[in-house]
Amino acid sequence: MSECIFCKIVNGDIPTNKVYEDDKTVAFYDLNPQSPTHILIIPKEHIPSANYIDENNSDLISHIFVAIKNIAKEKGLDKQGYRIVNNCGEFGGQTVEHIHFHLLGGRQLQWPPG
Ligand code: AMP
Ligand code: ZN
Repeated sequence: MSECIFCKIVNGDIPTNKVYEDDKTVAFYDLNPQSPTHILIIPKEHIPSANYIDENNSDLISHIFVAIKNIAKEKGLDKQGYRIVNNCGEFGGQTVEHIHFHLLGGRQLQWPPG
């Protein structure tokens, strides 16, 4: 996936402000933050979107959610709360076709989303 910008982040070809990394996942600050804390968590493996989650990678997705919870706690978001967002496909507003989860916190978020 040589053209995928998030694969390039995983490979170190594009620099980011990294928050967390382990053998399966990387988390970094979003370039265009929508809340005081806005972090993206991605798998190192190229999975295009939530449409590609299946029994073969569901352990990886679970692992990412545990990482998100730990990052939220480390960033002091756990008490007031936060939002985990996955945009899937055109109508979902997905712009990067490498699955990622937005961790948004630090302000009161509105519902429903636009
Ligand atoms: P989505 O619209 O859900 O696909 O989210 C893609 C997100 O990636 C957007 O919030 C962008 O601001 C963010 N983004 C794109 N390129 C980078 C980058 N090089 N470093 C950090 N965030 C990025
Ligand atoms: Zn990728």
